[in-house]
Amino acid sequence: MDKSRQLTSPLSAKEEAWLRGWGNNWLHLWHVCANTACERARCCRGNPSNCFKENFWRLPEGVQDWWVLLMEARKDGLSFDEAWAELTDLGLVDELANWRDLACGGAASGAVN
Ligand SMILES: [Zn+2]
Repeated sequence: MDKSRQLTSPLSAKEEAWLRGWGNNWLHLWHVCANTACERARCCRGNPSNCFKENFWRLPEGVQDWWVLLMEARKDGLSFDEAWAELTDLGLVDELANWRDLACGGAASGAVN
């Protein structure tokens, strides 16, 4: 994995909310968060960009790739559907699905928020 890839630049409040949604509902960052309050709550309680930065690298590699490529596609102006099709071809949507099963596995959780 290329270590030079970084999540930089401070975020606006709107972007923070956006990131929180992705982190909680898609990446399940709370599952790897060092803050036990996050895991208990099944959502990151802290500052989303901090939680994101700290926990992103703890995610499985395929999930990291999923996110990085999704963000690149977004920058390149691809529509979500186009990006999704590409990620599906690469098998990364499956990686994400596996991760989400693992994170949510067993517990009949209402992680929807
Ligand atoms: Zn957290």
